[in-house]
Amino acid sequence: MGCEMPFIMAKNLKCGLKKGDKCIKCNKPASVYLPYGPQKFCDKHFIQLIEKRFRKTIRKYSLIRKGEHLLVAVSGGKDSLTALYLTKKYFGKQNKITALLIDEGISGYRDKALKIAMKNCKKWRIPYKHVSFKTEFGIGMSHISKKISKTKKNFGSMCSFCGTMRRTLMNRYAKKLSADKLITGHNLDDELQSILMNACDNDIARFFRSGPLAGVKQIPDLVQRVKPLCEIPEAEIFLYANYVGIEHYSGSCCPFRAKAKRNIYRKILNELEEHYPGTKYSLWNFYIQLRVKFISLKILSGIELNKCKKCGEPSTKEICDTCKKLSILKN
Ligand code: SF4
Ligand code: ZN
Repeated sequence: MGCEMPFIMAKNLKCGLKKGDKCIKCNKPASVYLPYGPQKFCDKHFIQLIEKRFRKTIRKYSLIRKGEHLLVAVSGGKDSLTALYLTKKYFGKQNKITALLIDEGISGYRDKALKIAMKNCKKWRIPYKHVSFKTEFGIGMSHISKKISKTKKNFGSMCSFCGTMRRTLMNRYAKKLSADKLITGHNLDDELQSILMNACDNDIARFFRSGPLAGVKQIPDLVQRVKPLCEIPEAEIFLYANYVGIEHYSGSCCPFRAKAKRNIYRKILNELEEHYPGTKYSLWNFYIQLRVKFISLKILSGIELNKCKKCGEPSTKEICDTCKKLSILKN
């Protein structure tokens, strides 16, 4: 399992095509086959389909309002750069847009991806803010990994450190830069993996944190995170990024990814989709309906958040997860 996965999956979108297949929109030769439709598209109409889905998701869930300052979290990968590109394309005239580039300190990986992200920001004339774990927390991921490997304790995967710390930085900088919304590049696959993983962990609070708007209700001090790509499968974003010429990082995977728990969920979901096309969208629609019902029943009345006593970021506990993790590392 690695970074070649979206490439393989995107290749599969072409495998179902037979000689002479035509685009359902214009009757020209088809270049993409979406088995769950099933539908076939030429390049131009596939691009239109993805852009329509992006705008539809934003409209359907009211993710962006005119005049809001949008901060887009960019890693340099296909998803976040596609989110930035589309946000600029459709909201560049009516909204202020800033990119937030977070360097987790994974040498040989994130530094390369962020170089591409910066290049794109310059090309698309989008101002960016570059922040790093090293300057914000005093330690980067490569160093954290070395520290952890010296202990005999099981701290789980490195992604739990990385994800928690990144979320803290995203919120910190969204507030610092007075952003109204924080846009992330989470795609349909990312969301479904989290939903399934949290269901299997019997973690109902986290389970309902997925979806187009992160969290169940708006909480002061927590800048709302929105995911306009959440209804587009990963392979289709990969194909779209290549069709419209978005340069993105496509080198080797994060060295910590191999041990990530979500790999197994990715594999299961892809197998299900392969055998029963449409499963991913069915599961997503089921989740969205469930979420709406739970919110309307007020079963999830929202979580009360305090300010972390160490860093001041919102937290359900006295000390937030990031500060807790950092103090474990110090000790
Ligand atoms: Fe961070 Fe894990 Fe992603 Fe690597 S794979 S960048 S450690 S979340
Ligand atoms: Zn804290």
